[in-house]
Amino acid sequence: MQTYFIELSYLLASILFILGLKGLSHPETAKRGMHLAEFGMLMAIIGTLMHHQIVSYTWILSGLAIGSVVGLAMGVWVPMTAMPQRTALSHAFGAFAAALVGISEFYRVGGHLDTITMGALGFEVMLGALTTTGSLLAFAKLQGLVRGTPMTYKGQNIFNMVLLAGTIGIFVYLIFVPGSMPLFFTMVGLAFIFGLLLVMPIGSADMPVVMSLLNSYAGLASAATGFVLSNNVLIIAGTLDGFSGFILSILMCRAMNRSMTNVLFGAFGSAVTAAGPGSEQHGSMREVSIDDIAVQLAYASKVVFVPGYGLATAQAQHAVRELADVLEKRGVTVKYGIHPVAGRMPGHMNVLLAEANVPYSSLYELEQINPEFPSTDVTVVIGANDVVNPDARDNPNSPIAGMPILEVDKAKSVVVLKRGQGKGFSGLENPLFFKPVTGMLYGDAKDTLTRLVQAVQHA
Ligand code: NAP
Repeated sequence: MQTYFIELSYLLASILFILGLKGLSHPETAKRGMHLAEFGMLMAIIGTLMHHQIVSYTWILSGLAIGSVVGLAMGVWVPMTAMPQRTALSHAFGAFAAALVGISEFYRVGGHLDTITMGALGFEVMLGALTTTGSLLAFAKLQGLVRGTPMTYKGQNIFNMVLLAGTIGIFVYLIFVPGSMPLFFTMVGLAFIFGLLLVMPIGSADMPVVMSLLNSYAGLASAATGFVLSNNVLIIAGTLDGFSGFILSILMCRAMNRSMTNVLFGAFGSAVTAAGPGSEQHGSMREVSIDDIAVQLAYASKVVFVPGYGLATAQAQHAVRELADVLEKRGVTVKYGIHPVAGRMPGHMNVLLAEANVPYSSLYELEQINPEFPSTDVTVVIGANDVVNPDARDNPNSPIAGMPILEVDKAKSVVVLKRGQGKGFSGLENPLFFKPVTGMLYGDAKDTLTRLVQAVQHA
């Protein structure tokens, strides 16, 4: 009866995880998807707690209490702008848990493991260990605790490959001769070191892609844990996590027109790549006033807002919605152009704008909005930089050459809201700011938008 209940709760949890993922694939159903997945996790926990192999609940309940407090605190106090580093920490915890389960299982029955179980266990521990240190370094880079630019040295890729080959070599040996405790711990140690070395040469700008990849590793490590423990829900959830993370990494690379190899081994954002030939700028930026822009907006027939990372740091999502409301009341058509990698995580802009109740029907993806720019009277770029950098289209020597951009420079007029001369995440200069069609409106985006609302009302 007990086993029947456990398997039923695992089946239910797995179905809910799949429905949850499906819901998360669309902004309108994302919230419901999240709730379904949460309920699925509750089912999986309840099922696991019913397990007859549990002899004492003391440690489990202590872990549950500590984990809940940490999780709640992170959910309540970590701001949206720090979500990438928060996710990196979660991956590190999850992967470390998988590695520890594998280590304790090897410690318990090491020498008696059959080939398949040892293969799954070695895979779990190796991926778990490298994901732990890789995610911790990703967290430190994103949080600014260590330098965010790529850390490189001569022969780095070859050294990393040799280390990885050595780790895999020990892993393969252990599959056939599983008894050696020293070799097992050497493999674990090398995997921990490899995680650090893997992330070291990757700059902060590429960190979201790397984290999505690490997320995929953590998922696969959990799936392997499921094989070791004969736990179905771990196998299913881990595989879903593993493959969705991998697909997301590929989609992000595609949106930046970069290959996965380039992201992992290209040291993008280092001094060498940042100063691509042809990236130097001439001329000056043209500063405009709130009143001028307010008049342009008030008498426009079509306005497109293009939000970027600055919208998130300024928390200007409600202010932009207010400006849109005021303009729409005057009969102006308002649309939002959303770049797939605007901000610092996939769907960043969608989440922020949904929080301010911007109707989903007003959001347009890159391919939909680009043909509309020539007929747009005013395009308002709000704290976006790299995703509107025309060098990606016009300068074949630019490090971001070929990255699809929002072609805002084709609009009749462009106004850029940013605080000053700060660069985007890639560290590149943006020729858009020097074009005659562009006016610069300096200041914090929320503050500028709030003042624009008042000015448009009096225009
Ligand atoms: P961005 O290139 O990072 O530029 C953000 C701009 O916002 C900066 O130039 C900054 O200029 C301005 N800003 C910052 N705080 C502001 C504030 N309070 N008010 C007004 N402006 C403010 O942003 P993006 O155009 O959204 O591009 C995203 C970048 O992240 C791309 O390079 C993308 O490849 C990378 N990335 C994103 C993802 C993802 O999943 N979204 C994944 C991987 C990589 P000032 O300092 O002058 O204000």
